[in-house]
Amino acid sequence: MEITENYNTIKKQLPSSVELVAVSKTHSASAIQEVYDLGQRVFGENKVQELMEKYPLLPNDIQWHLIGHLQTNKVKYIAEFIDTIQSVDSEKLLLEINKESHKHNRKIKVLLQVKIAEEESKFGLEIAEAKDLYQQYINGNFPDVEITGLMGMATFTDDEQQVRKEFSILKSLFDELSQVRALTTLSMGMSDDFPIAIDCGANSVRVGSAIFGRRDYSK
Ligand SMILES: *Cc1c(COP(=O)(O)O)cnc(C)c1O
Repeated sequence: MEITENYNTIKKQLPSSVELVAVSKTHSASAIQEVYDLGQRVFGENKVQELMEKYPLLPNDIQWHLIGHLQTNKVKYIAEFIDTIQSVDSEKLLLEINKESHKHNRKIKVLLQVKIAEEESKFGLEIAEAKDLYQQYINGNFPDVEITGLMGMATFTDDEQQVRKEFSILKSLFDELSQVRALTTLSMGMSDDFPIAIDCGANSVRVGSAIFGRRDYSK
């Protein structure tokens, strides 16, 4: 009941041009099914193990996005069914996804995750690295993946100007790379900052707790 209300509230706030990735990490398959039944098809998980447990329990037209740090040795477990890997943060990982994509005769979609937050964040490419990887891709490296866009996370802060500044950095990079070859997806914004992200140009947002409620990590 509450999930349904939350979902409808979020949907109302999103322009139709903005994709919603419902972030279901730590939440049950039945909670996901409830949101699916409201029409949602794109879901995000951050752990391979958890995704593999839920995947067989849910309808097969769900487009699963991996949004958390991915170890290269785990790509093989999700290569057959993952729709988009949003968290590509190294060349090594991109190479591995390319290899597995080829093996499964598909073209896995990926986003380059870029470090934009001022706070120390463990994962994400530097801007120069993202540019370099994209140029390599344009030059024909990684032929079995499709780089469709960029993903980033802003600093966790109440300072809206700071958040705006960081999202704008990613939007600038998105525009710059799109001049070389058009990108489609700019994924930024979570439960607390998605309206700012949309204002700064995001066309895909990753919303978890505002739909599913607080995550309980003690379980
Ligand atoms: C958990 C997570 C989200 C969703 O966060 P909420 O604050 O619950 O909306 C979005 N993106 C990433 C990368 C996450 O790990």
